[in-house]
Amino acid sequence: MVFADQDDVVRLRDLIEAAGTVVIFTGAGISTESGIPDFRSPGGLWTKYQPIDFRDFMASEAMRRESWRRKFAMDRTMNTAEPNRGHRAVERLVNRGKVSAVITQNIDGLHQASGIPDEQVIELHGNTTYAKCLTCGLRHELEPIKTAFLADETMPVCTGCGSEYMKTATISFGQSMPETEMARAQRETLACDLFIAIGSSLVVYPAAGFPVMAKQNRAGMVILNREPTDLDSHADLVINGEIGPTLGDAVAVN
Ligand code: NAD
Ligand code: ZN
Repeated sequence: MVFADQDDVVRLRDLIEAAGTVVIFTGAGISTESGIPDFRSPGGLWTKYQPIDFRDFMASEAMRRESWRRKFAMDRTMNTAEPNRGHRAVERLVNRGKVSAVITQNIDGLHQASGIPDEQVIELHGNTTYAKCLTCGLRHELEPIKTAFLADETMPVCTGCGSEYMKTATISFGQSMPETEMARAQRETLACDLFIAIGSSLVVYPAAGFPVMAKQNRAGMVILNREPTDLDSHADLVINGEIGPTLGDAVAVN
C-alpha cells in the first residue's frame, strides 16, 4: 500500500475548493479496491491474458468464443463488486455540484452504482452489462446468452439479423471510439477549470488525451495514482497514493 503525503491531500482539497467546475477522469485503478483487477498492476488481467484486438475478434470465431469465456469468467467478480471509498468521494463531489461529469474508461458501472446520475457518467469504453449486434446494432440482454454459452458454449446469434458478430457493449482495442461520448468528454474537458485523473495508467489513447487537453486549455490538472504515469510532467499536482484513502480524506467521506 502506498499512502499519500498528507500535505498533498490538503493541496488537493484546496484545489477542489478553489475550482468552479471540476471534471473527474477515472481508470481501472479506482475499482481495484472493489475487487476488480486492473490491467497493468502486478496480478492485473494482463498477467493472465492479452486483450483481444477488435480485428482478431472479427476475423476469428475462436477469438469470439474466447472473449465470451473471459467475459463470463469475470462476471461473478463484476456482478458482486460494490463501490468503494474512492467512488463515494467522487459521488459526493458530483452531488455537491462541484463535479460536472465523470469521464471513465471503466466498464463496470460502479460510478452509477455509487449514486451518480447516468447522464453525468461518460463511458468512453462502453459497458459490459449488455451485448450488441455489431452488424445491425440491436441490443441484447446477457442472461439468455450466458445460459446458453455456459451450458455447451453455444455462440450467440442476433435474433434481429442472424449475424454471428455479437459482442458485449464495450470498446475493444482497435475498435472505433463512441462518437457521442467522445464529443461530450471533450466538451466537459474544455469547460472545466480543474481536471483530476484517477487510477489510470494514462497510456490508452485516445482516452489519455483528455488530461493534456484540459491542461492546454489552462485548467489545473491533478494525477492520482499509486505509481508514476507517463503524463506526470504535465500535471500541476501528482499524488502517489491509494485512491480510496486519499480521496476519502480529501473530500471527508468514509
Ligand atoms: P490500467 O490497468 O492500465 O491502469 C490502472 C492504474 O491504476 C495503474 O496505473 C495503477 O498503478 C493504478 N492503480 C490501481 N489500483 C490503484 C489504487 N488502489 N490506488 C491508486 N492507484 C491504483 O487501467 P486503465 O488506465 O483504466 O486502462 C485499462 C483499460 O482496461 C481501460 O480502457 C478499461 O476500459 C479497461 N478495464 C476496465 C476495468 C473496469 O471497468 N474496472 C478493469 C480492467 C480494465
Ligand atoms: Zn443484428
